[in-house]
Amino acid sequence: MDDITWPDLPAAQQPPWPEQAEVDQAVAQLRLLPPLVFAGEADLLTDRLAQASRGEAFVLTGGDCAETFDANTAESIRARLKTVLQMSVVLTYAASLPVVKMGRLAGQYFKPRSKTIELRDGVELTSYLGDAVNALEFTPQMRRPDPQRLIQAYHASATALNLVRAFTQGGYADLRQVHAWNQDFVRDSTAGQRYEQLAGHIDRALAFMQACGTDPIEFERVEFYAAHEALSMDYERALTRIDSRTGKPYDVSGHFLWIGERTRQLDGAHIHFASAISNPIGMKVGPTASPDEIVEAAQVLNPDRIPGRLSLITRMGAGKVRDVLPNIVQKVDASGIPVVWVCDPMHGNTREASSGHKTRLFDDVIDEVEGYFEVHRNLGTFPGGIHVELTGDDVTECVGAPAVLPKPTCISVTRPRAIRGSIGNKVSNSPSLSRTCCSSAEVVRAGARVPAKSPQPLVADHEA
Ligand code: PEP
Repeated sequence: MDDITWPDLPAAQQPPWPEQAEVDQAVAQLRLLPPLVFAGEADLLTDRLAQASRGEAFVLTGGDCAETFDANTAESIRARLKTVLQMSVVLTYAASLPVVKMGRLAGQYFKPRSKTIELRDGVELTSYLGDAVNALEFTPQMRRPDPQRLIQAYHASATALNLVRAFTQGGYADLRQVHAWNQDFVRDSTAGQRYEQLAGHIDRALAFMQACGTDPIEFERVEFYAAHEALSMDYERALTRIDSRTGKPYDVSGHFLWIGERTRQLDGAHIHFASAISNPIGMKVGPTASPDEIVEAAQVLNPDRIPGRLSLITRMGAGKVRDVLPNIVQKVDASGIPVVWVCDPMHGNTREASSGHKTRLFDDVIDEVEGYFEVHRNLGTFPGGIHVELTGDDVTECVGAPAVLPKPTCISVTRPRAIRGSIGNKVSNSPSLSRTCCSSAEVVRAGARVPAKSPQPLVADHEA
């Protein structure tokens, strides 16, 4: 058993576990469980991300805001995977660039919250902190943080990852299945029809290549990586192991771990944890960040200046991206520390609707993406990827849905298609990227199924 010791640093956003003995017991159990990913896979992902840092690939990370144990079904996992595959095929086609595919899945069971206590009708209970900690149901029993849920989260992650590996390696992600990734409930929409057209082009290209006698194995499988926020120090530390090949620590709970906007204190446990592991890591960067503190964090997180090691996931909000992002990008760029610049257009764009629900306006999401591309184009830096919350379910009805939380859904598949159309155009038109593209006319800024009312709220509250 690897014995890694961790310094006692302040850790933000940790669950108020009622009994330390229960936590110790769960952590001891976790430490005996097998790794969910292999360190070598994490290294391969670092190499792929290094390509994105040089403008030779584009990163697509997509998945739930928060996974739930109930939604850990074959249908739901397949639907999310389909959506990412669809988005990535459109992006690849638009930009003629490899797309590094990551899912916010198999570990996204923890949520940071701005309030640790929720008050309803005079009753105060611990806020919902993700299925790995407590349950959404507002009763004292269900809201009690229960460390045994950490074990459940591990097993749920293992089953999700197993299915994802089966799908991506076993034929479901074969490019010849490109039509099958179009969801039934979108197929007849304008967006669905445009996707079918694009899939038809891909079919013909594949048939042509086959007729010429080439049928590369690469078309049959895809590399797909699992990513989640490294929020719970109990969980992530317990799943950190020394890799027998390199003698270095890897967090084997997922391939890619990121630190959230609320836990990136320079002297805190999360930054220290991320600096200690050898996985590729990310850090969210919000609008209040100063360029100097981001350079300092980048120095701590990537002291050896390894390309692909660090992604800075910027989530400024549509109104601020053009003002705040340039200084940060310039300063980090001038430091010489290589990073992948990724845009998260979700978390800086939450608003409170009149109902009290947290929502996002679709136009803000698109505007932030556009601002992100503009900033990088103006500075000559590489827009390396996009990080979005999405679901494969037909959830447009979640607009205005009661939102105490979270159906962990933020955009339905129709919306990623609109987003990927917009991004496809931007990636393909970006002079910063090293390759040029096919006709952006193939990439459609698709119409949405959400009744055309602008701006359109996207999300029922999930307190981003
Ligand atoms: C998230 O990605 O789920 C999240 C809460 O993001 P942020 O840390 O940027 O708020």
